[in-house]
Amino acid sequence: MLHHATPQAAGRWCAEQRAAGRGIGFVPTMGALHAGHLSLLQRAKRENDLCCASLFVNPLQFDDAEDYANYPRDTQKDLRMFAAASCDMVFSGALGDFFPGAGGVADIPVKNAGPFGRGLEEKFRPGHLDGVRTIVEKLFAAVGPCRAYFGEKDFQQSLVVTDIAQQSDGISVVVCPTVREEDGLACSSRNVLLSPNERKKAAAIHRALLRAKTLWDENIRDAAHLRRAMGEALAAAGVAVEYADLRDPLAWSGRPPAGEMQRAQALVAARVGRVRLIDNLRLDG
Ligand code: AMP
Repeated sequence: MLHHATPQAAGRWCAEQRAAGRGIGFVPTMGALHAGHLSLLQRAKRENDLCCASLFVNPLQFDDAEDYANYPRDTQKDLRMFAAASCDMVFSGALGDFFPGAGGVADIPVKNAGPFGRGLEEKFRPGHLDGVRTIVEKLFAAVGPCRAYFGEKDFQQSLVVTDIAQQSDGISVVVCPTVREEDGLACSSRNVLLSPNERKKAAAIHRALLRAKTLWDENIRDAAHLRRAMGEALAAAGVAVEYADLRDPLAWSGRPPAGEMQRAQALVAARVGRVRLIDNLRLDG
């Protein structure tokens, strides 16, 4: 497996591969790899001539300096895992490599996330999806993939990056199912930051989503009813809820729905101790 230390070197390699007629499947990551990342890498490998990944903890998408400082990092372990997943090329880089001339985050013109950035994450992590859009546009420009793979776990992010791809030439975003631990907790790089007691509590997030799904299957379609049921399930487990809400997955809106829903994605963001976790589940279908 090749490891390029800058997006420029990676970009040159990708251009050579594209010129030779090879299609690239691309998996952007912030490292601290887990089974969710591996599922994306495996699919990219299967569906393309080449599987490429990026490893960059993007400071632009953190609204909290402490969260950025504490984000788990283990580059050597990650590189071994990328290689074991038969990745062809991984690249990393410093902030100044992605944004030449920038001395720090404050110098970087941040893009607006667009219509799918409205609501939910926007309220509780202001600027997060703007930072995602800013880096993903850079990554797409460097790699020029035919397909880019993202996880459904970050549902609102998957909508933002699909929007970017639709405005870029020839890139399709493939949204991959959420990989979970045995008790239902969505795999996340942040799970290693949970104490054993918090780790047990965190399973309540998936249980709350399943509660909404059960109600939906019993023909409960009222948004307020479903929202309340998730909130109660999380509160009973002692999890601090940021949002436990619903959206029409095919018609995103910044505002919470009211009344009967025809389609619903249930979405939760919660803090377990100091760790912020998100998850979601499609209720219909
Ligand atoms: P991250 O390194 O957290 O930025 O994640 C890199 C990619 O992996 C993103 O597209 C995430 O949505 C995806 N991802 C993270 N967790 C999971 C999971 N549990 N299942 C599937 N994909 C995931």
